[in-house]
Amino acid sequence: MTDRYAVFGNPIAHSKSPRIHGLFARQTGQDLTYEAILAPLDGFAPTVSDFAATGGRGANVTVPFKEEAFRLASELTPRAQAAGAVNTLSFAGDAIRGDNTDGAGLVRDIAHNLGVTLAGRRILIVGAGGAARGVILPLLEQQPAAIFIANRTAARAEQLAATFKVDGGGFEALAGRAFDIVINATSAGLSDAVLPLPTFLFAPGCLAHEMLYGRETPFMAQARAAGATVADGLGMLVEQAAEAFFVWRGVRPETAPVLALLRNE
Ligand code: NDP
Repeated sequence: MTDRYAVFGNPIAHSKSPRIHGLFARQTGQDLTYEAILAPLDGFAPTVSDFAATGGRGANVTVPFKEEAFRLASELTPRAQAAGAVNTLSFAGDAIRGDNTDGAGLVRDIAHNLGVTLAGRRILIVGAGGAARGVILPLLEQQPAAIFIANRTAARAEQLAATFKVDGGGFEALAGRAFDIVINATSAGLSDAVLPLPTFLFAPGCLAHEMLYGRETPFMAQARAAGATVADGLGMLVEQAAEAFFVWRGVRPETAPVLALLRNE
């Protein structure tokens, strides 16, 4: 029987995950289907249970259910535990295993696709929400020189920084600092909001990584004007999907052709 997988979110119609996993399945010869399922805002858990009970083998979880998926899981991987959120579920009997592949996806995009070494580098994470939290442990595992977390609401950055024993603060705390890699993990780009980031923040040769994709954000324009190399979040999206595919199937798809295809669509 063909194995069933899905992504749960609300909204979900825009999701690229069915396309990405469909391409991965074809490329690797894996016999599976992958669909997008709209879960009601107050009905995430029963929707997931129905799916698992009717042959679902695994699922991705997106906005706004990642924290709820974390609570729903009966087992958590260390990286899901650190993230406080789950984007990948695997069903086996009554067990629901929760994982988080977002951070691994970001690391792989930066190190492999963009060819930028993380070890020994000064990294700035802008934002202190779920996306920021999810990538800190996988970034720390690459042994950067330092990680600084800056956020509009300084207290959230300070709290997150304390949890992971790194530095953090409000945007004013960035004065006089420069970074080799700047990651925008805020949702500011969705509303075209400009972040108050000083130009000197982007060290010579800096990589500026925007987690959003599908649009040119003010952050990308700012970074480009400051001389940084700029990347959007599409590579991270494809890489977190590849990592989830590997978790479920034990097979690692080639991401370059899939990323190239999506870029052209
Ligand atoms: P959250 O809602 O949890 O956090 C939002 C963050 O953005 C907070 O730090 C918030 O600051 C900040 N923020 C929002 N608006 C502004 C603004 N106008 N100026 C300054 N800061 C602002 O969202 P997530 O962390 O879940 O997601 C963040 C982004 O990352 C999303 O847009 C999402 O699409 C993207 N993402 C991309 C992925 C990929 O695969 N490419 C994977 C996961 C996420 P404050 O605390 O002050 O409110």
